[in-house]
Amino acid sequence: MRRIWERPVGSWREATDLPAQVIAALERDHPVPRPALAARQESRDGTVKYLWRFADGAAVESVLIPEGRRRTLCVSSQAGCAFGCVFCATGRMGFGRHLVPWEIAVQVRELALDARAGKPSNVVFMGMGEPLHNWAAVDVALTILNDRHGLGIGARRLTVSTVGIVPGLQRLAQRPEQFRVALSLHSPYGGRRRALMPVERKYPLADVLRALGAFRRRVTFEYVVIKGANDRRDDARELARIARELDAHVNLLPLHPGGAPGLVPAPPEGIELFAEQVRAGGANVTVRRSRGLDIDAACGQLRVAVERVPPQQHRDVEQQGRVAGDGDAPEPEGLADHEAGRRVAPPHKHQGRVRSSPRR
Ligand code: SAH
Ligand code: SF4
Repeated sequence: MRRIWERPVGSWREATDLPAQVIAALERDHPVPRPALAARQESRDGTVKYLWRFADGAAVESVLIPEGRRRTLCVSSQAGCAFGCVFCATGRMGFGRHLVPWEIAVQVRELALDARAGKPSNVVFMGMGEPLHNWAAVDVALTILNDRHGLGIGARRLTVSTVGIVPGLQRLAQRPEQFRVALSLHSPYGGRRRALMPVERKYPLADVLRALGAFRRRVTFEYVVIKGANDRRDDARELARIARELDAHVNLLPLHPGGAPGLVPAPPEGIELFAEQVRAGGANVTVRRSRGLDIDAACGQLRVAVERVPPQQHRDVEQQGRVAGDGDAPEPEGLADHEAGRRVAPPHKHQGRVRSSPRR
């Protein structure tokens, strides 16, 4: 156990503290499972995207976001995603399969093994997939990441981001550790939220907010500002009201490319105005900046081998990201803030399955 997680080795041969016979037996009968690194891309801003491929061909991405001393890894919990949020690139590729616990934890372990990267200080479940749709595996993976005989990352540095799967939230709330939770809210009104996030039909916001009330730690609302869809004055007022009620922190994110066509990101000044309105409503709010856009590694952009966003969109988005940048703002421990967007990519057919060839 120690040589798998606590002081990890790439193969049993490196575990020289074990007797030679044990090493040989382990190597023969239980070789250390590892994903193939199918691609690694580094952004101009230091963000690194990894594409991991498992033996059955399923592939997922992780993104490392360095920010001063903090190094946050954004991990995937599923290959693809079944929830189809209209603004999300992973949602558009459809569901591939659940990851099993080691396939989640190994994304962190591989970095610990890589001297260039090193073990991340924080982990957020904001990669591909909906973690609470795969609770059985995420439950175990959280233990592996947090336990002192596992990867030893503090509970407050582990954040589960979810669209609000009520039974999963209830189970997460029952864990004694103080894991952080982020709700992908995107609209404070059920009707408008439903148009962006089909999950609202199954788990209405009122039930989700009630389930969040069971958490002892402060929760975070993730809110992508989309022009005309969720950026009106009444949206800001209602968002502030529910944030106040739960004492939640609001993160405003620019819309990134990769979702359905026709969605328009709010311009930087629009996001600032919206933030002001939320603040005036008495809620804590931070405007997030984009990270890893030039390598399609920003939030919601992870979409293996499907499309590349045209260069012009990236130029627009990077400009917007700079203006919207708010790097000095205090940030709730453990949250990734790699965001921004422009118009979205051309329509693509639902992939249904995850394709595993890396983008170049
Ligand atoms: N399924 C989980 C976690 C993965 S998505 C969830 O939805 O919370 C991680 C974050 O990226 C979520 O907050 C999601 O709303 C956001 N996101 C998705 N698409 C985006 C886009 N096009 N631009 C900005 N953020 C996006
Ligand atoms: Fe799935 Fe999250 Fe994307 Fe929605 S935003 S489609 S839940 S990954």
